[in-house]
Amino acid sequence: MQPTPMVLPYDAHNQALVFNVHPLDWQNPEPAPCYNLVVIGAGTAGLVTAAGAAGLGARVALVERHLLGGDCLNVGCVPSKCIIRSSRVVADIRDANQFGIKVLQGLEVDFPVVMERMRRLRARISVHDSARRFKDMGVDVFLGEGRFLGSDTLEVAGKTLRFRKAVIATGTRPVQPTIEGLAEAGFLTNETVFSLTEQPRRLAVIGGGPIGCELAQAFRRLGCQVTLFHNASHILNREDNDAAKILQQSFMRDGIRLVLDCKTKKVQKKNGNKIIHIECGGKEEEISVDEILAGAGRAPNVEGLNLEAVGVKYDKREGVEVNEHLQTTNPRVYACGDICLKYKFTHTADATARMVIQNALFWGRKKESALTIPWCTYTDPEVAHVGMYERDAREKGIAVDTFVRPLSDVDRAIADGEEEGFVKIHVRKGTDRILGATIVARHAGEMLSEITLAIVGNLGLGTLANVIHTYPTQAEAIKQTADAYNRTRLTPFIKGLFTRWLAWRR
Ligand SMILES: Cc1cc2nc3c(=O)[nH]c(=O)nc-3n(C[C@H](O)[C@H](O)[C@H](O)COP(=O)(O)OP(=O)(O)OC[C@H]3O[C@@H](n4cnc5c(N)ncnc54)[C@H](O)[C@@H]3O)c2cc1C
Repeated sequence: MQPTPMVLPYDAHNQALVFNVHPLDWQNPEPAPCYNLVVIGAGTAGLVTAAGAAGLGARVALVERHLLGGDCLNVGCVPSKCIIRSSRVVADIRDANQFGIKVLQGLEVDFPVVMERMRRLRARISVHDSARRFKDMGVDVFLGEGRFLGSDTLEVAGKTLRFRKAVIATGTRPVQPTIEGLAEAGFLTNETVFSLTEQPRRLAVIGGGPIGCELAQAFRRLGCQVTLFHNASHILNREDNDAAKILQQSFMRDGIRLVLDCKTKKVQKKNGNKIIHIECGGKEEEISVDEILAGAGRAPNVEGLNLEAVGVKYDKREGVEVNEHLQTTNPRVYACGDICLKYKFTHTADATARMVIQNALFWGRKKESALTIPWCTYTDPEVAHVGMYERDAREKGIAVDTFVRPLSDVDRAIADGEEEGFVKIHVRKGTDRILGATIVARHAGEMLSEITLAIVGNLGLGTLANVIHTYPTQAEAIKQTADAYNRTRLTPFIKGLFTRWLAWRR
């Protein structure tokens, strides 16, 4: 039997969460003689697979060892976006003077209330992923750890499930950084940080990728002294350099201390402090903090599944091996979501789950490589991207034209006081075919979908110039970038013709 999940603090909100996503009185059903599909893991990938397949009439079993909703609902997107929202309010009040608003009494963050708000909203959202909801959809929900017994059987909580096809959607967990003394000193990860009820005064964040950056900025704005450690020369080093530069400047204005490209030698616990020993450019330094949050790297949940018994190949770092059609090395077994994907996002878990339903149940031949995958880091400003970076195009030998519109030229961004950022679009040289785009803006994630739609729908940049955008919006930056492309079509020869025609018409 699985240990009862305890989501701390076990207040009314977290009890409501558990009531939905791991009901304590849940009785696993009697298994059907044979399932069309057994899905292991009930994060986004597993939930979407199970709901979609059951909706089409399949007999489906869904197996979850911890909380339905997986990382996204419980310890990822949802709680992080809730606290990011509170942290943006802090920044707005901090910057209120610029808007002619005086904040007379000063500003105080009530950290326990910020976290309580997050728990309340997470519990509310958890209804969507609740075990009862999935049962009502006709899915047999089994709570317990799934383990393959053979190529058509899986065991969960003492019951044997027979299947025609199975889907592995077991996701990932945080990696523990290999720093001497860190485990002994104790550290937080995304699995524990959202249980905090007291604000750490000094917080070290290890990892300047998306998760580390989002949480570092949120906690800084909520009042922690934050030091962000990243083993590259700048944060978000996989993103467009100009985008990362803007974000780094924003972090410095927020007062985040950046420790870049330094060696973290060891961690020691002394008198209740956690002392981080670093070496930077030949100099040694000790940084004393109250908590350390590790946000660097994810490890796939492959252990305990008995994958060897069913001939499913996997790698302890890369996860389950799949082909283009998300089929594992056992043709009866598919995988989707973080467990097998390079791009670990909720929306890719969702998209690949939909592919798996078609490929596993209906001889579909959907290919993962055909997906256009956008993503966004929800910092302030946000950094959103889709398609190729300029460096990708260069590596592939594709010549590009790049069009950029700074937000400081966009009326609505000026009016909003949100001028930091840009829209940058790469097209295949001499054409308007969009290859990739990066947007840096306060709501870049909301703006990006227009460009993703253009790529998916094979609409060129010229077409975006013909789309009437409501005025004034920050999304006009996209149209203005497209206008810049259109202007390149006005060659001196064509302009000469126009000038002569218009002179003749006077
Ligand atoms: C802090 C943070 C913030 C994030 N923010 C965003 C964001 O804003 N946008 C975004 O798109 N993505 C975000 N992500 C990523 C997103 O959470 C993941 O991409 C998504 O949850 C992947 O879904 P999944 O179903 O593949 O895996 P998971 O959500 O990890 O679900 C896997 C499930 O399988 C279960 N499981 C594992 N092994 C077994 C077993 N043997 N038997 C039964 N059950 C098992 C686990 O308990 C888990 O519930 C964030 C991640 C983190 C950590």
